Amino acid sequence: MLNIVLFGPPGAGKGTQSQRIIDKYALIHLSTGDILRSEISRGTELGLQAKHLMDKGELVPDSVVIGMIGHKIAENREAEGFIFDGFPRTVAQAEALDNLLSEFNTEIHEMIALEVEEEELKKRLLARGKISGRVDDQNIAKIENRIHVYKSQTLPVATYYQKQEKYKGINGIGSIEEIFDRICSAIEAA
Ligand code: ADP
Repeated sequence: MLNIVLFGPPGAGKGTQSQRIIDKYALIHLSTGDILRSEISRGTELGLQAKHLMDKGELVPDSVVIGMIGHKIAENREAEGFIFDGFPRTVAQAEALDNLLSEFNTEIHEMIALEVEEEELKKRLLARGKISGRVDDQNIAKIENRIHVYKSQTLPVATYYQKQEKYKGINGIGSIEEIFDRICSAIEAA
């Protein structure tokens, strides 16, 4: 199995690059943001609970996203591997992911971290908000809150993987193809 965490702040390009990575390496894409948005659009109980937090740019509770990811891993135990996108977002989630994967006798092989500076992130998210309809992309205060949440709660996850010598920083500025080539080199060196 090949299991990769694709990491980076909101707007770093994780979703765009995930699509290319799964096409090339036949991995299963697990995006907690996408799974939560699908729960919201289906009007489930979980979706209703998550919506007000997501709209404000706050994190959904760890127990909720860990449970979701646990189900998806169990459903796909024959997979070639997984690309985790938007998860883990807290150190507690990273620890839970290590435990989940060890139940299936596997582990995270690499964290690929897209590095993009803050002003560029804000520009990209506001531009996306004009076409995506995502409430959390349409307001600068919400975007700034997500970046704040990222710095305070999510950035420690990078240190978690650095300690395991799995962290690989990638310059997230450039064309989509250039960045994808950098990611492929990092995956192939893993
Ligand atoms: P982005 O990376 O652009 O912020 P996502 O689609 O990954 O977008 O996440 C959107 C929102 O979904 C987050 O702001 C948060 O409210 C919620 N969310 C997604 N993944 C997680 C997670 N792993 N833990 C907690 N909340 C999450």
